[in-house]
Amino acid sequence: MGRCAEMSMNDILDKVLNDETRFAEILDLAKAPLAIEISVIKYCENNACGKYNKNWTCPPAVGSFEECKKKIEKYSKMLIFRSEYKLNEWYDIERIEETIRMHQANVRRVRDLIPEDVGDHLVLSGGGCVYCKECAYATGEKCRHPDIAIPPIEAYGIDWFRFAKKHKIKYGSPEGEMYYFGMVLFG
Ligand code: SF4
Repeated sequence: MGRCAEMSMNDILDKVLNDETRFAEILDLAKAPLAIEISVIKYCENNACGKYNKNWTCPPAVGSFEECKKKIEKYSKMLIFRSEYKLNEWYDIERIEETIRMHQANVRRVRDLIPEDVGDHLVLSGGGCVYCKECAYATGEKCRHPDIAIPPIEAYGIDWFRFAKKHKIKYGSPEGEMYYFGMVLFG
């Protein structure tokens, strides 16, 4: 990786942080490797979120586990950031759905900050794409907004919670809040 890519990403760190993103950090994946596990995809197959085989950004449409793993393993650095939202009351489904949309818009905001000289990179978000009311995958059409859709961290087999726990990154959602993560792999 050119030193240029890391310097460019360091330059945008201040802009990544705002009222909804109070944590952002650049990590060296040689020192803190991501855990990429087929068991995460198996979890997707159990369809707890309802998007397996129903969304262009999720398995199986996103690609095989091997293809996704290969893509991730070529990167040496990661910008990780967390979106945080207040809930009015726990298990307010409407508000939770709204925060997922807000988070995915936040990930697109960060994606749009990435300077061109960073070169090849991959942006991943928490949760399958919720941009359309119903994903075009369900009706066999092409993705309506490929410039908007960002695949979820889990769809690439990344055991994010294990990683976060090991590296002492605050995850889970404290009472009255929802936390989501986004990442940019580069270098
Ligand atoms: S933009 Fe729409 S069609 Fe494309 S992945 Fe997202 S929800 Fe599906």
